[in-house]
Amino acid sequence: PLGIQLHNVSHGYDIGGRFTPVLENVNLNITPGEFIALLGPSGCGKSTLLRLVTGLETPHAGRILADGTPITSPGPDRIVMFQDPTLYPWRSVRANVALSQDISGRVDNAAVDAAITMVGLQGFEKAWPHQLSGGMAQRAALARALVNNPRLLILDEPLGKLDSLTRLTMQTELLRLWQDRGFTVIMVTHDVEEALLLATRIITFSSRPAKVISDLTIDLPYHRH
Ligand code: ADP
Ligand code: ADP
Repeated sequence: PLGIQLHNVSHGYDIGGRFTPVLENVNLNITPGEFIALLGPSGCGKSTLLRLVTGLETPHAGRILADGTPITSPGPDRIVMFQDPTLYPWRSVRANVALSQDISGRVDNAAVDAAITMVGLQGFEKAWPHQLSGGMAQRAALARALVNNPRLLILDEPLGKLDSLTRLTMQTELLRLWQDRGFTVIMVTHDVEEALLLATRIITFSSRPAKVISDLTIDLPYHRH
């Protein structure tokens, strides 16, 4: 698993012609294997922080390191999953799961099969995305995220739109995968119960510009690998 270090990270955007700070001097040390939940009011800068950690944007000030090495661009060891599964409608479930490998020019069929089995979508490999329920589409997106064995899984409210029963099933699934695989997770959620159920550490941000206002470590029996 990957450890992530943020040193005095500040970032902001031009909003309506005026520079608006979004993150201000954020310091975080995320150790390998932690399951982090990020909480905070809407618009405080949580997704911005995820984009910075992914390498989609570079902070205006400060440094972000992955195991001590500066993050300069997105990489296959850090996989993001957003609220909307964004499956390609003209690709089968299997082709969607294989997508990230397809881009790199080679497909490890055994790894694709394993990922599909892991999320319980065996038998649906040839289905089209529109034939899947919301939960199944999320499972397919999760399989796609896991197929390359990421060392860090970055989740932006991945289960926000699911009904509560499907969400509980997916939460259990996510927890089991994290226990088995031991990757690091950084998950943005608005759901405090979800954070309490899953996370080994809950970090809460203030409203914009985001600062860490609470950093809580949680130790539950099922958190131990
Ligand atoms: P959160 O995920 O906590 O809801 P975001 O990180 O999405 O918050 O956004 C934080 C603030 O930055 C918001 O005010 C948002 O409007 C602004 N913002 C985010 N991305 C951009 C962008 N690309 N350009 C301009 N403003 C942005
Ligand atoms: P590839 O893996 O070869 O890049 P694509 O994802 O681009 O495949 O497309 C997969 C198949 O779907 C191809 O046969 C392509 O012609 C078809 N296709 C691509 N884009 C669309 C689209 N917007 N609507 C319908 N079919 C599409």
